[in-house]
Amino acid sequence: MPRCARSAPTGAILRPMNSILRLPARHTLALLTAAMAAGLSLTPAQATEPTPSACADFYGHINGQWISSTELPADRARIGSFDQLAISNTRQLIRSLDKLLADPKQQNTPGLQLLAAWYGSALDPATAKAAGLKPAQPLLQRIASLKDRSELPTLLAEFTRNRLGGPVGMFVMADNQDVRRHILSVGGSGIGLPDRDDYLKTDPTSQRLQGAYRAYARQLLALSGAAVDDAAIDALMAFEKALAESMLTAVERRNPQATNHRRTLQALQTEAPGLDWMAWARAAGATADHLKPDQDFMLPQPRHAQAVARLVQDAPLSTWQTYLRVRLLDALAPWLDEPFQAASFEWKERVQRGITKANPRAEQLVYLIGGRTGWEPLAQTLGELFVRESFSPQAQARANAMIEDVRTAMRTRIDGLPWMTPATKQRAQEKLASLSAQIGGPQKWPDYSGLTLDPKDPAGNFMKVQAWGHAQRLADLPKPTDRNRWDTSPHIVNAFAAGQNRIVFPAGILQPPFFDVKASDAANYGGIGMVIGHEIIHHFDDRGRQYDAVGNLKDWWEPEDAAAYKARADRVADFYSRYEVLPGLRINGRQMLGENISDLGGINIAFDALQLALKRQKASPSDSNAAARQFFTANAVIWRGKQRNEALEQQIRTGQHSPGPFRVRGPLSNMPAFAQTFGCKPGDGMVAEDPVSVW
Ligand SMILES: [Zn+2]
Repeated sequence: MPRCARSAPTGAILRPMNSILRLPARHTLALLTAAMAAGLSLTPAQATEPTPSACADFYGHINGQWISSTELPADRARIGSFDQLAISNTRQLIRSLDKLLADPKQQNTPGLQLLAAWYGSALDPATAKAAGLKPAQPLLQRIASLKDRSELPTLLAEFTRNRLGGPVGMFVMADNQDVRRHILSVGGSGIGLPDRDDYLKTDPTSQRLQGAYRAYARQLLALSGAAVDDAAIDALMAFEKALAESMLTAVERRNPQATNHRRTLQALQTEAPGLDWMAWARAAGATADHLKPDQDFMLPQPRHAQAVARLVQDAPLSTWQTYLRVRLLDALAPWLDEPFQAASFEWKERVQRGITKANPRAEQLVYLIGGRTGWEPLAQTLGELFVRESFSPQAQARANAMIEDVRTAMRTRIDGLPWMTPATKQRAQEKLASLSAQIGGPQKWPDYSGLTLDPKDPAGNFMKVQAWGHAQRLADLPKPTDRNRWDTSPHIVNAFAAGQNRIVFPAGILQPPFFDVKASDAANYGGIGMVIGHEIIHHFDDRGRQYDAVGNLKDWWEPEDAAAYKARADRVADFYSRYEVLPGLRINGRQMLGENISDLGGINIAFDALQLALKRQKASPSDSNAAARQFFTANAVIWRGKQRNEALEQQIRTGQHSPGPFRVRGPLSNMPAFAQTFGCKPGDGMVAEDPVSVW
């Protein structure tokens, strides 16, 4: 299941988790001194534009000066609290990586040896230049010599096995009917534009993306020496459009029931006869032990599988060749010679996110190896390096105590819900009690045996790592699931609500401005406390509530409670849909519903948790009021940021997270405690006319 406080890899259909944010970040409050030292002022005023009052716009009130004095660097799509912390983590990792390369004695674990080999191979542009297209040649040759459609199942399986972005993927996940066991899932998208809608819409942004993608595909083909003309690119676009049309929309994909389909290979063969699915599955690595003809697997998007099979049957082989070359080169481009890297930058960074300058290669590599959410096969090698320096048992203990306070606050809130019957309340309490937290990083690092990398072959290493990651996951299939296993890397600045009723807080985010062992409760609850609340609520948002206490997709709601929930959630969707982010571009309240429900509930239970801490400390009313102010200020600080319009538009079109300003305005304007703390009155911008709440 899943969500995170951050946001979301593009194109991925099967996503193991949700996170707290779209992009990463740094700083807070009782942290005043630390913040000032870091050049961040927390006092409103002296902005070039008049700073709004707390009750008119709290986001602008707290962050106005920061916004007017902060420049968005040319090599970033966004800069803000998450981003600054992520940059800091990355730079720390680069310093450690430099030491690791300079002193092989420090490469004293299998993970660190692999990390040093891969990072080292990709750092020097001369290495990629010398390797040229060699790592891609075996597959390019198979594509070039494609003569008969009967070769397609095994050729597609090469893309599956090496995770090269082909149209059919094979994944292993916890079975949503019984999360104690693993199950195979067959999915994937295989499209090159950021979202399926981008092929079908004709608005100026869709046209701009289509034009730029055509140019990118043409350039990749030309760089690889393949012949290319307009007709080939037209055929490529029509081919990908056929895939896109068969896919669910971003809103539909959020509904776990809409993707809860199972098939056997026999059934799939009847339903989508154009592709020999058994031949594909075997070549992709599924042995007879993994997949018997009459054994169920997940098939989240049956119409997509049918479309792939139809294309295998009908599309000209020359179009398949163009398509597979583009997919292969697109996947490898960041690891190939400079012209490929430049083409990839132009399409993925400049066109889609508005970035005008590539960031340093070392930073790119940390991102490429670790991924945005830390789920890449070797991401935890970076985590291993990171936690050597950056996490203490004290931090773990305090974060754990905060989680228990927020859980207690949620328990009280469930008890007090006026719209829920006792029977559903009891099951909600059982689910809350069995929710488990992962904090910091794993006790034990992955076993990397069987993987060796070549210091002279960055793109070849990428393919080896992908194939190894795929084989590792397939090897999990017969084993029971492990609720304690880490799926993300500790260096990541994000938090997650993961399947099996878990919440995850990597060491990367357990730093200022989110969290500081030395900071006040008010600052910590307004920062990481809200993030904890957000992840807990994810298990009770419009998606998460459909999973039970162990994480199975199982309805535990009395019908009248489900109806009451839906009515409340609908009002949240409508409330956020009124926010205009850019002229004419509004938040899609349905697409972002789970995140917004989690923000609304998360800030409330974090505030309640702070009250528990204040009560223990026997704080006076005036101290409590000062703490409340600090809490809300800390919260506005973590969501501040500046973002390029291209990136903002992309986030609204494809993402699930509201932009930072609305993650402050939305939740706080619906929160009586906020109005009370700052003396806001009906009619003020920060007081919703008709407040919405779910939890
Ligand atoms: Zn989230």
